[in-house]
Amino acid sequence: MVRSLGLRCLEVQEDGEMIIKRSGPRVKNAQKTKIGDHIFDSKMEGLRFIELERLKQAGIVTEIELQPGFSLLPTYWKCCNTIFGSLELKKGKCPYCGKKVPATRGIMYHADFRVTYADGRVEIEDVKGHETEIFRRNQKEFEYKYPELTLKLVKGVHR
Ligand SMILES: [Zn+2]
Repeated sequence: MVRSLGLRCLEVQEDGEMIIKRSGPRVKNAQKTKIGDHIFDSKMEGLRFIELERLKQAGIVTEIELQPGFSLLPTYWKCCNTIFGSLELKKGKCPYCGKKVPATRGIMYHADFRVTYADGRVEIEDVKGHETEIFRRNQKEFEYKYPELTLKLVKGVHR
């Protein structure tokens, strides 16, 4: 498994947490971290998972879903100045001109966690050292599309 990820070496810490080191140049906070069966993109994300597991054990959190995916833009087809969904095309062809139309793949946003709290609250979390331009943009599109959900940026983790 480690080899298939193109990673060079493993380091097991005293607390049993395993850190996988990338062979390429190190990016700050972007060290792949393995906890249990899960591999996280950054150490901070792994630490947040441990924190959420503790909250679950304490009964504060009832469910933790990893890498929940959300569609921000559906896959679409464009022809004759018109946008079509998959059902509007006849065998992949434009209903107006009859030409075959290639699909433009939609945009998926993958958050880090979907956390359900005992009081029923659901929070979508993205764990990052700081707010990025891309995050702000994802957050706007996410909020617009999913008004019933809250996307939260988690900047710090308590050990
Ligand atoms: Zn057409």
